[in-house]
Amino acid sequence: MARDERGAVPRLRLCVSDCLLGTRCRYDGGSKPHAAIRELVALPEVEVLRLCPERASRLPVPRPPAERVGERVVLRSGEDVTEAFHAGAEREVARVLAAGCTIAVLKAKSPSCGTGRVYDGTFSGTLRAGWGVAAGSLRDAGVACFSEEDVEAVGAREFVARALESSGSAR
Ligand code: SF4
Repeated sequence: MARDERGAVPRLRLCVSDCLLGTRCRYDGGSKPHAAIRELVALPEVEVLRLCPERASRLPVPRPPAERVGERVVLRSGEDVTEAFHAGAEREVARVLAAGCTIAVLKAKSPSCGTGRVYDGTFSGTLRAGWGVAAGSLRDAGVACFSEEDVEAVGAREFVARALESSGSAR
């Protein structure tokens, strides 16, 4: 394990989508645990702030799935939940910034947490370029946003090594 000049383990504060850690916070009451994320958060360098913008939106669970339709967010039932998604995102972004997190690992393709690709609003499994509501707000606030796919692609250890190097987060 790499140590700094004082022999201390450098610290990387990450915010992570809670469903990736196995918490049952999804719209259907389920979770999306991911092996690479389990490995990531077990590394001694990593401090984790769990976030879930949809839980923070206080929408009922279970509920129908949501997708982004242009700038809006709509449930498969047709209900427009844009306002609730933005309210949840605002609460979580405030928490992330208050905690000093500069890096986020977020659930891919989600209408809240998707980073660069989201479902296209047709509920047909089709993806388009775009960001989830909370992920876009985090990005705009200067937080570097990645998905579990990004972590898996390079491996948890390498992801942390690169993040420490590029963010200057070692403290
Ligand atoms: S809002 Fe994000 S963290 Fe919460 S369940 Fe959806 S993808 Fe996971």
